Amino acid sequence: MSAAAIILAAGEGARARGIVPKQIAPLAGRRVLDWSKRLFCEDSRFDQVIVVTTKEIVAILANDTQFATVTLAEGGASRTASVKKGLDAITRPEPAYVFIHDAARPGVDAECLDALFEALENHAAAAPALPVSDALKRQSEGALANVDRTDLYRVQTPQAFHLSTIREALNNTGNDLVDDLAAVEMQGAGVALTKGSARYNKITYPEDFEIMDALFAATPNIRIGKGFDVHAFEPGDHVTLCGIQIEHTARLKGHSDADVAWHALTDAILGALALGDIGDHFPPSDEKWRGADSGVFLKAAVDMATDRGFSISNCDLTLICEEPKVKPHRKAMRLRTADVTDLPIDAISVKATTTEGLGFTGRREGIAAEAVVTLSSLRSRD
Ligand code: MG
Repeated sequence: MSAAAIILAAGEGARARGIVPKQIAPLAGRRVLDWSKRLFCEDSRFDQVIVVTTKEIVAILANDTQFATVTLAEGGASRTASVKKGLDAITRPEPAYVFIHDAARPGVDAECLDALFEALENHAAAAPALPVSDALKRQSEGALANVDRTDLYRVQTPQAFHLSTIREALNNTGNDLVDDLAAVEMQGAGVALTKGSARYNKITYPEDFEIMDALFAATPNIRIGKGFDVHAFEPGDHVTLCGIQIEHTARLKGHSDADVAWHALTDAILGALALGDIGDHFPPSDEKWRGADSGVFLKAAVDMATDRGFSISNCDLTLICEEPKVKPHRKAMRLRTADVTDLPIDAISVKATTTEGLGFTGRREGIAAEAVVTLSSLRSRD
């Protein structure tokens, strides 16, 4: 089922980290808003991501290439008014569902979205919630009264709806609702509560940043992968290394273009993901890959990493051969690899060494390549 996401970032917010509003204050290397934006934009179930924010932030984001695919809308005078503006910004063909999320909850993860999608199969609306664990008191005219916390929940976001249900519900309400579920509840529609988390808490006070920093930093997910490949020489006039054709007195033998460097790099990425090796995904027995550009294999491995929530931090390639000389082509090889992997050039290292005349590379019988990559999760996970 397709969905739209509306990220609410229209509040003025408390002063936090010297920056008003808090939705663009820094958190764990990004702005608070960027975390939610990234979560929804990288989830293929969402056709459209809408950020409803202040005029000033719209002006900032309109020039930000990271937000090029995001619909920007100016907020209204209240939360409900901003939600209505977000709903008005949904484009046709309309999705079945809409997820309405506070930008000030940067810790929401794919697991939370999965549970909400599942709940929407049988309910008109759903939201993550946590049982209240503190004792509750009501203070009135100096006297304290105990409040029974049984069955009480703290409701978080995103709050997820069948689009038609929330539209109809909001058409029949004013603009001063406590949250979006309230509108649907007033219609008597079925609402499900899914598993909430302290990670989904809202940043309200400056000290909340410290708690969120600790949560984000506590569970970094770093992977390392290593790849190794060898191709033998056969008669020919050039070799292909990192997508660059280099004149030589022989060529590398292989089913594809025999780009030994990119094969090692592809295997390193697959290794970090524990997804087998290049032969599993692109078998040499498959005619489809005869003479193939190995950039296709490399790009596919990068996409597999991205699909699993990882980004490549850096890669380090070492070519082992007596000839051809790699050094004059190193920059072109790095640039071409940066192009295919969509990484900055300073994240890509290409080195070369010989084996001092020893072994098969020393006898000029072929080229070996080694690669190491590090992947990190785009966001930390529980
Ligand atoms: Mg190979």
